[in-house]
Amino acid sequence: MTVILIGGTPGTGKTAVAKILGSRLGCEVISMGEFADESGCISAEDKFRQTGIIDEDCLVEALIDLVEDKKGRIIVEGHYIDLVPSSSVELVIILRVYPGELRDRLSTRDYPESKIQENVEAEVIGVCQMDALEVFDPDIVFEIDTTDMKAPETVEEILSIIEADVDPIRIDWMEELEEAGKLDEFLK
Ligand code: ADP
Ligand code: MN
Repeated sequence: MTVILIGGTPGTGKTAVAKILGSRLGCEVISMGEFADESGCISAEDKFRQTGIIDEDCLVEALIDLVEDKKGRIIVEGHYIDLVPSSSVELVIILRVYPGELRDRLSTRDYPESKIQENVEAEVIGVCQMDALEVFDPDIVFEIDTTDMKAPETVEEILSIIEADVDPIRIDWMEELEEAGKLDEFLK
């Protein structure tokens, strides 16, 4: 069984893209947050950050069982994707978005400003990209700049990555913002 992972900072479109990709490929989509919860791996509730705290050992065990269990292909989207056993992962997609656009997307959620800022900074730095590159073969880690795309276009892009033998691109907002003299706008 093989897994397509979809990661990225909150607000980059993981859930929306995974849902459409799942229907295009006819495969099951697993959202990591729900999966962790259903697997009994959320041990406490972090009220301030409005996120569950994940018991990582528990989640690693549950993910091993998941990939052993299933036949064919599944899509896993969300956080903690780097905990999926790498031997079963065929492709890792990291959705990226220009930090200013991410701020706009997140401001439609009822997140406290501190959480919006935290996520914008994570996107500037490229936390999800770095985590993925640390765990998986860089040749299977693809980043997509979704700034000027809608979710269906992003899915087309993923399908073309699956079908064609293309080289991954790397996105570095830090460098772009620094060159544009805009880093201070995003890193507080
Ligand atoms: P995530 O699961 O990464 O937090 P969501 O799937 O909830 O993100 O999407 C965040 C918002 O961004 C949604 O309102 C979605 O429709 C919107 N969006 C805008 N552009 C895109 C895009 N190119 N790809 C995916 N989602 C997008
Ligand atoms: Mn989501």
